Amino acid sequence: MERSVIRLSHCQKDIFCFSVPEQCPSCGEELRGSRLQEAPVSLPSPFSNGHKSSCCLLVAPAHDNLHRDFDGTSDLHTGISNTTGVVYNYTQDGVRRDLSGWERCISIPLVRPDMFHLLAQWDQYLERFSDGPMWDPVWYRFQEDEHNCFSFCLQFLNNVLTAEGQEVLSREDFTRCFVLPRIRRGSKYSTLYQHIQEHQFYMVGRQEDTGSTS
Ligand SMILES: [Zn+2]
Repeated sequence: MERSVIRLSHCQKDIFCFSVPEQCPSCGEELRGSRLQEAPVSLPSPFSNGHKSSCCLLVAPAHDNLHRDFDGTSDLHTGISNTTGVVYNYTQDGVRRDLSGWERCISIPLVRPDMFHLLAQWDQYLERFSDGPMWDPVWYRFQEDEHNCFSFCLQFLNNVLTAEGQEVLSREDFTRCFVLPRIRRGSKYSTLYQHIQEHQFYMVGRQEDTGSTS
């Protein structure tokens, strides 16, 4: 079970941990029971359960390795959820409709909650799109680089945009604006999480409040 990461500040340091330590790892001062200058804040996890996020683009590690992590080196797999949390994803064998396996992934919402007409048709769109010959291994072959899981997601999204009378997105723009920033955040969080698991805490010099966040 994933624990939540908290951040507390002491003696000009930001300390990230799972629970408030007995003593400050930097200056050794007693922390438990003493009043901290500021209450610890918990960091929101960038991961969510794909089967509980409707109408999202989902990004998860490609292989069923034990850690299933975003360490920045493993391949990623993408899919699209319908309104009931079924994840449609294109593989060598065609489009899979997964009911499990996407419990920890990055979710990128594709539909605003007030777009009722689109929400009402989403499942139908997705089902019909997935049945197209483009994704049938008898007609087209999966290609690692050009005709892959991400092509499926992007083309579906562009079909929806076209149906809505909006401009389509290029692969580059979509990746740069929507996908990469979230993957970077996920990967940073994973690194931090692993560090805390091994060393109980992670400590950095307190950043001045310049208003810049990452
Ligand atoms: Zn301290």
